[in-house]
Amino acid sequence: MERVVYIDGRFYPKDEAKVSVFDHGFLYGDGVFEGIRAYGGCVFRLREHLVRLYDSAKAILLEVPVDIEAMADIVLESCRQNGLRDGYIRLVVSRGKGDLGLDPRKCPRATIVCIADTIALYPEELYTQGMRVMTAATRRSGVENLNPRIKSLNYLNNILAKVEANGSGCAEVLMLNDQGLVVECTADNIFIVKGRRLITPPAWVGVLEGITRGAVMGVAVEAGLDVREEVFTRVDVWTADECFLTGTGAEAIPVVECDGRRIGTGRPGPVVADLIRRFRALCGREGVEI
Ligand code: PMP
Repeated sequence: MERVVYIDGRFYPKDEAKVSVFDHGFLYGDGVFEGIRAYGGCVFRLREHLVRLYDSAKAILLEVPVDIEAMADIVLESCRQNGLRDGYIRLVVSRGKGDLGLDPRKCPRATIVCIADTIALYPEELYTQGMRVMTAATRRSGVENLNPRIKSLNYLNNILAKVEANGSGCAEVLMLNDQGLVVECTADNIFIVKGRRLITPPAWVGVLEGITRGAVMGVAVEAGLDVREEVFTRVDVWTADECFLTGTGAEAIPVVECDGRRIGTGRPGPVVADLIRRFRALCGREGVEI
């Protein structure tokens, strides 16, 4: 089926789906976005994604030209138009067309784009064997600069770290904040397991509060784990029993080595395997019907 892309009220064939070169999303990375998943004909945590999108827009003083209910319809209709039951939805609200100055007031109307497609972030064997990561020299933007809680179109901080990952042969890299505390990876949140404790960094260190992160914390409570949002350092990752990453694109993926240190046994562990099973089951039973 030929993909169609929603732009400002109309669907266009993939090859004709274009936005202006004067759009400040293109010129300056001025805008916000969401990556959303559909499983078995239902959109997972749609409301949470939309609330985060509107919060990000509010934080950059971007007025979204439609309300949250209309935006939900745009997402669902994009899935229908593309016959998508399982896949990945990229919803973008950019500042819109302006002039060559960066003043957002010159952009009278935001642009809305919705792409419904499929995604495979990492090779399947990383899910079964586990992934190696290293720590990036590039630090995650500080909360007082470009707060990572704003899911903006400006991903250069993450891309600089991703370039380091590519150079080292790792699929992902760990990013620290300016104090050396573990924050997250370039496109994923991080969790470590110590005994029956499941630990992930709190929002204030500069993490994007992932929707998958929240869902995994929920299933972990059901599994009887002691779930905590606490700061930790690289040493805690190196000495953890188990480690894994979460994200809408990645879902949940075990990490078995960090900076050349084997984590736990060096194989995906039982706690992570159980959480991944529970998370997949949740994705299969929850969601807004397309
Ligand atoms: N951190 C960053 C920097 C991200 O870009 C993402 C989204 N890919 C995540 C974490 C995970 O968030 P979510 O589970 O909502 O996709």
